[in-house]
Amino acid sequence: MQKKSFISLISVLTLCLTLPICSDEASEWGYAKSTGSDNWSKIKTEYEQCKQGHHQSPVNIKSFVYKKDNNFNIQFNYKSSHEVILNNGHTVELLYDEGSYITFQGSQYRLIQFHFHTPSEHLVKGKHYPLEMHLVHKNIDNSSYLVIAVFFERGKEDKFLNEFIHDVPKKLDKKEFAKNISVVDLLTDIETESSLQKDLLKPKQNQSLTKINISRIIQAKAKFWTYEGSLTTPPCTESVRWVILEHPLTASAEQIEKLRKAEGINARHTQKLYERKVEEFINAV
Ligand SMILES: [Zn+2]
Repeated sequence: MQKKSFISLISVLTLCLTLPICSDEASEWGYAKSTGSDNWSKIKTEYEQCKQGHHQSPVNIKSFVYKKDNNFNIQFNYKSSHEVILNNGHTVELLYDEGSYITFQGSQYRLIQFHFHTPSEHLVKGKHYPLEMHLVHKNIDNSSYLVIAVFFERGKEDKFLNEFIHDVPKKLDKKEFAKNISVVDLLTDIETESSLQKDLLKPKQNQSLTKINISRIIQAKAKFWTYEGSLTTPPCTESVRWVILEHPLTASAEQIEKLRKAEGINARHTQKLYERKVEEFINAV
């Protein structure tokens, strides 16, 4: 049930009006030509790294080296979560309840949200996939992130996407967007966590909400590419370990279209690798 299964943006708007953190600043960056990813650094000085950084994401994966290293191993500890879905004007995002985490190279990372890009942001040998999902994990000890990227190609429908695809909210139109800009700004911090954001959207007690379970999306024993990169949205901060599932999943044309319609084209252009190497590992778990 749509009404029950996601917290409406309107209630967040109301709450936001009472909170000092909500900024009046417009969220100017986007994906159109003038505000698009090649121009992000011109929009704000805080976005300088989008142009200056040498560890930027996404990248085109043309070649990679196999790395046999026991440290390159992900242990998944995913649980189900209440469904909290929003369309922040840049992406369709689902916040994830506390309690799901992964372990990688001795660090624990908590899954905080996942969201979508249409088409994919990473390219494989110059090729886009129609859809890429980002599972954003935050290191519990510091401010670094680990994002697992999952590609989808057209094919059979995906059961996990079906758990929430019918609740995907529409993008706010331009007029609404301008009117509600403070909230949109609050929620556009899409690759990062805001405890406030989580609090605002926390399901009320006793409210029976739909549950989603991400653990069905990834087979733990799989091949992954990994490299050091950045957020793919402003401010393009370079503290992100990217882990990309090599083998694409499938989603139906309708599922992909639903997300594409809701968020439009939201893929940043690929960035130079510079001295970085993409490494491959086979997960042992
Ligand atoms: Zn993303």
